[in-house]
Amino acid sequence: MARRKLIYEGKAKILYEGPEPGTFVQYFKDDATAFNAEKKDVIEGKGVLNNRLSEYFMVGLASVGVPTHFLKRLNMREQLIRQCEIIPLEVIVRNRAAGSICKRLGLEEGATLPRPIIEFCYKDDSLGDPLVAEEHIIAFGWASQQDLDDMVALALRVNDFMSGLMHGVGITLVDFKIEIGRVWDNEFQRLVVADEISPDSCRLWDQKTGQKLDKDVFRRDLGNLADAYTEVARRLGVLPANVSPASKPTLVN
Ligand code: C5P
Repeated sequence: MARRKLIYEGKAKILYEGPEPGTFVQYFKDDATAFNAEKKDVIEGKGVLNNRLSEYFMVGLASVGVPTHFLKRLNMREQLIRQCEIIPLEVIVRNRAAGSICKRLGLEEGATLPRPIIEFCYKDDSLGDPLVAEEHIIAFGWASQQDLDDMVALALRVNDFMSGLMHGVGITLVDFKIEIGRVWDNEFQRLVVADEISPDSCRLWDQKTGQKLDKDVFRRDLGNLADAYTEVARRLGVLPANVSPASKPTLVN
């Protein structure tokens, strides 16, 4: 049997060559890492949940006109995506203070920010993905000014869509990270939301109890990560309502 070609293995996902030119297969692993992979574990079912949740968010974004790399889900752990050239920046949008901005600026966790704040980090594990200014991005040629403007617009549209979706199920979208890729339509370049959108890359707090329903559960040893992600999926209707958090994820089609 022919083995498919491995393109790239990351901390939480693997990319394989896709069935047609210009496509990749994105495989979601159960591996969880934090603090630049200093903390590691395998969380059974996480990959299945993130595959399904990322599909749900990407399909939703496409339905409101936000372009993404997502083409279709193939199975429990894999999705077909459009090949794109990833811009080497993590784009972070913050609605409330949490995580690194609290440390950096001495803000209280949970403080509402005066407006959504966008930050860029340079994607380099060996440097710990440092925060960078637009000046660095332009000077080092990681993206053009036009790309930056488009990235900000895209990030804010994702924030509006995701905040509304989460608010509808009693969850506050505190912050999130997206990655953006370039695709080419003949000589025209377009930017698309790439990688994944999942509770691995967002902070999600229950609006009533403040309970954390995202990767901070793993980072800070706050309980069972798969239960937290299952709760997000259940509220969004991605899992049937009668799934108890302790049971394994069951997909609904
Ligand atoms: O750690 P920090 O507060 O900067 O993270 C902001 C948001 O970006 C969080 O939702 C976090 O999960 C996400 N993030 C990520 N991948 C990284 C860094 C941050 O998904 N490498």
